[in-house]
Amino acid sequence: MSTAVRVRLAPSPTGNLHVGTARTALFNYLFAQHFNGTFILRVEDTDKERSEAQYTQNIFDGLKALGLNWQEGSDVGGSFGPYTQSEREDLYTKYAHELLEKGLAYWDYTSPEELDALRERATAQKKPFIYRNDLDADAQAEKAKSGIAPSLRFRIPRDVDTVTVHDLVRGDVEFDASLIGDLVILKSDGGAAYNFACVVDDHLMQISHILRGEDHLPNTPKQILLYNAFGWDVPAFAHLGMILAPDRSKLSKRHGATAVDTFMNEDGYLPEAFVNFLALLGWSAPGEEEIMSLDRLAELFTLDRVGHSGAIFDREKLNWVNGQYIRALSETELLERIKPFVADYDLSVYTQEQLEQIVHITKEPLVKLTDARHDWRYFFGDDVERNTQIVEEVLQNETAQTLLELMISAWLPDLDLSSLETAQAGVKRLTKELASDHKTKTVMWTLRAALTGRVQGADLATTLTLLGKERIAVRLKSALATVHA
Ligand code: GLU
Repeated sequence: MSTAVRVRLAPSPTGNLHVGTARTALFNYLFAQHFNGTFILRVEDTDKERSEAQYTQNIFDGLKALGLNWQEGSDVGGSFGPYTQSEREDLYTKYAHELLEKGLAYWDYTSPEELDALRERATAQKKPFIYRNDLDADAQAEKAKSGIAPSLRFRIPRDVDTVTVHDLVRGDVEFDASLIGDLVILKSDGGAAYNFACVVDDHLMQISHILRGEDHLPNTPKQILLYNAFGWDVPAFAHLGMILAPDRSKLSKRHGATAVDTFMNEDGYLPEAFVNFLALLGWSAPGEEEIMSLDRLAELFTLDRVGHSGAIFDREKLNWVNGQYIRALSETELLERIKPFVADYDLSVYTQEQLEQIVHITKEPLVKLTDARHDWRYFFGDDVERNTQIVEEVLQNETAQTLLELMISAWLPDLDLSSLETAQAGVKRLTKELASDHKTKTVMWTLRAALTGRVQGADLATTLTLLGKERIAVRLKSALATVHA
């Protein structure tokens, strides 16, 4: 690429970091990395009513957690700052007046009520609402007396028929210029409108490529006309297909979480797994690879492998990717990652080595870190909770009574839990000797139901060593008590 690659994410801080914005951030980040370019973070807070500092913070935190660091931006500065639009108002006013002086923009005194009426009339006539004010100078002067605070509008050139967006993902997209209304560039309160501030900033910040969601495609012809009016170079555009729910509707809260921090902090998806999954939403590697680090993704990322149709947000796939990353972590590392999700459990009852054993024997089926909350429950507390189904189906019968009595009187006293091997021998002694006239499965289910409240779970011998004889005794006795309950 001949010119320096400079790309930006330009979020509006009107909500927490959404998966769609995170995916746009990722593609910008990867594109910049691939070409040794610069990734810029610009905060578009022109909507003063809805913008909040807490959302800016949430967006920054989320992007950083995903590893999508930027080189220039609101918080880190850079040579093209400030990078927050509310700190750039003077620039917008200056450039808006430049258009006014060139005769390419005009003050519009039409009141919001008049605009509403025009909009309603267009709707009633089933016509698109295209507002263009072509009043002559006298009529305009008369309107100016109304005392209404005017907005400044960019006059869409009347001699342009078509605006073509050369999109790097979807090819040339043509727009009929006659369907574009004159664009508000300064609102009646003096604040800059999105399409205008965006163009001024992208030009001044020397943005080379604009990668953003397809929902912005209708803005692009308007922005191109603004670049042309100033005589500025138009950056390259790439509009990414939207992220869709499995029913192909727009992904929204009704399909579950859409805020990135919920996925990581509440569900327990690993950030590195989540970002890997996001990369596969609308992009695919040239080969079969699916599990890729950010560096590897950056190496492989090109726009020609980005799809223009919507990408389905497939939770099964996310779970699979997360599972791959979970199993690739060491026990020590995974323990640290799990800790915040099991804060209700008193981990101090175990040594570091024992905690890593718990991780070791529960790691395989773990899909999300939060699953540990359920999977680890029986390692904590003296007794264990058993659900009614387990009690009724496994424990409330004569066989279970016999087996539990046998375990308490003949098995437990001689059970040696000093090592994994002796614990394994203990399990064998129970199934092959003491209770050999019962099916192994029945014996194991009874023992597991008594000790863990479940019939399946982590490696039994290790579980015995972790629970220790005292707790085993408590649980066998409480299980026996439920037989006739
Ligand atoms: N502030 C816009 C948004 O959050 C940015 C659009 C753009 O990338 O130009 O959707």
